[in-house]
Amino acid sequence: MRPTENINIRFPKNLQEALRLQAKAGTRGQLLAGGTDLMVQWVSGTPPPRRATSVWNLPELCEIEVRDKDILIGAGVTHAFLVDATPIHRHLPALVAAAGTVGAAQIQARGTLGGNVANASPAGDTAPALLVTDGTVLLASLGGIREVPLTQFWTGYRQIDARPDEIIQAFRLPKKGAARERFRKIGTRKAQAISKIMAASRIRVRKGQIVSAAIALGSIAATPVRLTQVEDFLAGKPLTAKLITDAEQLAQKTVQPIADIRSTAEYRRWVTGRLVRDALENL
Ligand SMILES: Cc1cc2nc3c(=O)[nH]c(=O)nc-3n(C[C@H](O)[C@H](O)[C@H](O)COP(=O)(O)OP(=O)(O)OC[C@H]3O[C@@H](n4cnc5c(N)ncnc54)[C@H](O)[C@@H]3O)c2cc1C
Repeated sequence: MRPTENINIRFPKNLQEALRLQAKAGTRGQLLAGGTDLMVQWVSGTPPPRRATSVWNLPELCEIEVRDKDILIGAGVTHAFLVDATPIHRHLPALVAAAGTVGAAQIQARGTLGGNVANASPAGDTAPALLVTDGTVLLASLGGIREVPLTQFWTGYRQIDARPDEIIQAFRLPKKGAARERFRKIGTRKAQAISKIMAASRIRVRKGQIVSAAIALGSIAATPVRLTQVEDFLAGKPLTAKLITDAEQLAQKTVQPIADIRSTAEYRRWVTGRLVRDALENL
């Protein structure tokens, strides 16, 4: 018998029904979206739950709303949908690029943004691109909506600031405006690779001077991180060749990389600097 055969999966028709099921199930409740992370975990040793609630295709989780200053993206939106959603491309190019590097076509068609974020792997491709937007996570429960800044959402290795009765409904992501964004994923292959390190940036330059800089890394620590010391160093300075070299060196000095089966700490430290250089030269 396959380990997944005994799971009783409920298929609510809307978010309200899903929230009622989650409130009742408490800590025993397991949400299931595209299943591309969970199915792998269940067949490779993690005991599957007896019950799960499917949030796949819940209408309230599949919406994208482009507003004046920001964009609401439902947690159930798939990576493939993000790649195809042309109205958001110019506002959130790093996120679109990141979604396009998740697995390959089959995984992008099934994997969701909410699943990628809630799975909380430090190697989740969309995390750095979300982090540089200074956006928020909208968590729904029977009590209403709680909004948490993305910079505070990943609280530890595979941990998020969400209660068992909460469902991620959407992400509220400020548009990039006049800033430029960049996303780079460094892996062993060009597709179907888990990253050794990745970076996203959102940097605004006006009249040759850096107005603001947001730079985030994935696969470097227990959670995705922002390079705040480098960001602070860059803000307000003229964009020169020397500044780029100084920022590259500061990034290499201040980053605290992990070593694991995919890469060494030294390699990650060196590449961090190169990725900061790449983001600045791209301006
Ligand atoms: C072959 C293969 C290749 C892959 N390649 C990549 C890759 O290159 N990059 C990458 O980042 N990932 C990769 N993944 C991982 C996975 O595809 C993504 O993380 C995907 O986005 C997960 O989404 P899902 O909808 O399938 O999540 P699920 O597996 O359904 O759920 C994942 C977790 O999120 C929780 N969850 C789901 N939706 C919600 C919600 N709305 N609210 C609260 N919690 C929720 C679930 O309870 C579970 O804990 C790969 C997976 C496979 C099998």
